[in-house]
Amino acid sequence: MKSWALVVLSGVPCGAQASSTAERGSEGPADLVIRGRVFTALPDGALAEAVAVRGATIAAVGSRAESERWVGPETRVIDAGEGSVLPGFNDAHCHFTVGFGMQRDVDLFDARGLDEILARVAGYARAHPEDDVIEGMGWDLADMPGDSFPTSAQLDAVVEERAVLLWSEGPHAVWANSRALERAKLDGAAPLPPGVIALRDGEREPTGVFLGRGLFGLFPFTPFPDLALMQAGIRRGLSEAARCGVTSVQDSVSSMLRPCLAELHDAGELSVRFHVWGGLTRGPFGGGVTETLELKKQHERADWITFGTQKGGVDGMPSLRTARLLAPYADEPGSTGLTTVDPVRLAAAVREAHAAGLRVALHATGDGGVRMALDAFLAEPRSGLRDRVEHAFLVDPADIPRLALAGTVVSVQPSFLARDLAQGEVYERRFGPERCKNVLPLRALLDAKVTLAFGTDFSLNALDPRQGLAAAVGRQTAAGEPRTGWHPEQRLTLAEAIRAYTLGSAIAEGAVAKKGTLEPGKLADVVVFARDLFALEPHALPEAECLATVVGGRVVYAR
Ligand SMILES: [Zn+2]
Repeated sequence: MKSWALVVLSGVPCGAQASSTAERGSEGPADLVIRGRVFTALPDGALAEAVAVRGATIAAVGSRAESERWVGPETRVIDAGEGSVLPGFNDAHCHFTVGFGMQRDVDLFDARGLDEILARVAGYARAHPEDDVIEGMGWDLADMPGDSFPTSAQLDAVVEERAVLLWSEGPHAVWANSRALERAKLDGAAPLPPGVIALRDGEREPTGVFLGRGLFGLFPFTPFPDLALMQAGIRRGLSEAARCGVTSVQDSVSSMLRPCLAELHDAGELSVRFHVWGGLTRGPFGGGVTETLELKKQHERADWITFGTQKGGVDGMPSLRTARLLAPYADEPGSTGLTTVDPVRLAAAVREAHAAGLRVALHATGDGGVRMALDAFLAEPRSGLRDRVEHAFLVDPADIPRLALAGTVVSVQPSFLARDLAQGEVYERRFGPERCKNVLPLRALLDAKVTLAFGTDFSLNALDPRQGLAAAVGRQTAAGEPRTGWHPEQRLTLAEAIRAYTLGSAIAEGAVAKKGTLEPGKLADVVVFARDLFALEPHALPEAECLATVVGGRVVYAR
């Protein structure tokens, strides 16, 4: 174990934490000792009472009595009493840099209904007469009257002279006013890129909503965000992550922000580890294997900024009725959703990524989308790489053993469950009651020995992992409804949910040798809570106070 620790440390290029340990060797007192109810996240369920940290790595895990001899005059001790000590959370799917870095003009995430959305846009427009393009984010189809898509005309009624673009479900839908359509030259005759569809009226004219992938490219007039503001946003994000125990994120960092991450690292300011996704195929904003390998050369920083995963997608989102389903939508019987990639091109892209030693993560939300992703993975000879399906809102039971067979990691964001249940059971409307048994079937997946990885899809959901744990364990809204849980047979235990958020996420990014569990030789990424999480009801988990967060042995947050 000692030699392993040194091997790990020698790989750290310029970490101050690393040199101190290397000089002192691995004997002698620890730099940091953390005591509490230690959940190691090891598959055997091992518990302990103390963790010793030397430099950037865990030196020992043991009992309170053993921990006495790890403490020297210089040792910092954090004692949580009966509070939980866990491996730091690893958000396996989030949009950290874009979410914190690019602030939208109008925040619609908590706007309920059309009138409130229009009022907020009008209010912003009045207060910012100089802003030529107004962008908003976070409206939901489920909140619209009759569950039907809004139109340009509705937006024109509040802002006519300036372009307005309102995004839903991240980049999966955009609602534009007439001025925006005009500036983008999107009339009935305009050709659309593959993977994009426009909603149209009887005359085939676009009515203002576009669905699919690559929608940003439709509106090339949107202003370039200010780099200094984006960097300030990322710094704020780093503190927010520290406050809720997030020590690693997996993120498709925008090309503008990659240099910023490396700069923060080199200045010793990075307090979250980034696994940076490359784009599976080349598009208007970059992507492809060659680019990823080049970026890796330039921006990789051992243990802090890593590459190795290519992100692509096959469908949209259930809330927008663009998830690809095996059978039609319950509330749109003529449609099975949208496919955003051609299967032949997908197979070729997966092959190319594997040949370069890169795993593939595919956004697939409907049961048809999940099957399409899985078919692409299974068509390939086993490469030893664990590919991933992202989201998997609806999974056909027949595909669960196939996911296990392929060794595919299923990367889910349980917070969506709490959100969508709060919107009047949007799954029941889209899928009908029978298929709801297969919505986020976490228990069935684990029972079939499928590896689960947890994340948030921030900024669609809050970055706070406690909300996701609560949703996976309780299958309830944030308010704790329904009392007994929605399809409670798919609930996880808290131990399983934490393991998905730590060990599972580490497997998903191919970093299980370095993180995901609390054991000697692994990076000292630890979160400490004031309470024993295992003694709390699921809906109380989001209130559990974080006492300290440690990344690479450095205390980055302490209450
Ligand atoms: Zn996402």
